[in-house]
Amino acid sequence: MAAQLLLLEDDPAIARTVVYTLERDGLAVTHSLLLRDARQQVQARAFDLLVLDVGLPDGSGLDLLQQVRNTPAPTPGTPGTPGTPSATPVLMLSARGEELDRVLGLELGADDYLSKPFSPRELAARVKALLRRAGAPAAALAAAPALCTTMPRASASACAASHWH
Ligand code: CA
Repeated sequence: MAAQLLLLEDDPAIARTVVYTLERDGLAVTHSLLLRDARQQVQARAFDLLVLDVGLPDGSGLDLLQQVRNTPAPTPGTPGTPGTPSATPVLMLSARGEELDRVLGLELGADDYLSKPFSPRELAARVKALLRRAGAPAAALAAAPALCTTMPRASASACAASHWH
C-alpha cells in the first residue's frame, strides 16, 4: 500500500503542484484546504506523514502539529487505534523568512521544515527521506514511479484526474 500523506495547504496552486509531484512518486495524498478539515482527517484515520502549512485562513498549522504531538501513540499490539499517533513525521511549510514559525515548529516537534517558495522536487525528496527514517514499507516507495504510466489507457485519464483533488 502506498504511504498515506496529509497535505494541509490553503493555496490551491501550491497544493496542486505538491499533490501532483508526490502522487507521481507513488504516494497517496489527502489534501485539506483548511485547518478544520485537516483536524477531522487526522482524527478519523492514520497518516504516515503530515505536510502542514503554517498560515491558514482558519488558524495555524502549528496548532495541528501541537495537537498531533500531544496525541499518545497507540499501544503496540492493540488493534486499530484511530487517529494519527504522535510519532508521525511532520514537515512544516511556511512563508519566506518567518523565522519565529520555524523555531516554534521545531520546538513543537516538527521533523523538517521548508520555506516558501520551495521546489516540489525538494519537498518530495524530503518527504521520502522522512518516510524512510520512519520505517515506511520500502515497497510502498519503490513501487512508486510507474503507477500512472503503466495503467491501461482507459484508466490513464482517471489517474491524471486524481491529481486535481
Ligand atoms: Ca498559507
